Amino acid sequence: MSSDYRGRCLCGAVTYHITQFETDIGHCHCTMCQRFHGAAFSTFGEVKLENLEWLSGYEQLKEFQAET
Ligand SMILES: [Zn+2]
Repeated sequence: MSSDYRGRCLCGAVTYHITQFETDIGHCHCTMCQRFHGAAFSTFGEVKLENLEWLSGYEQLKEFQAET
């Protein structure tokens, strides 16, 4: 599935460009995803690293480890 998708975080500091999504795309309805997105579900799409380009703000990314 070829694409040309550009995205960013809410403040615009982190921007990225995706040239191709993989076919595995899904919704998660767990309570953590509901809280994180403020919605009934969140949607995830898989992208290979070679198809992802960080345009700005990569150094501002943080990692969050959720309790299971
Ligand atoms: Zn979830």
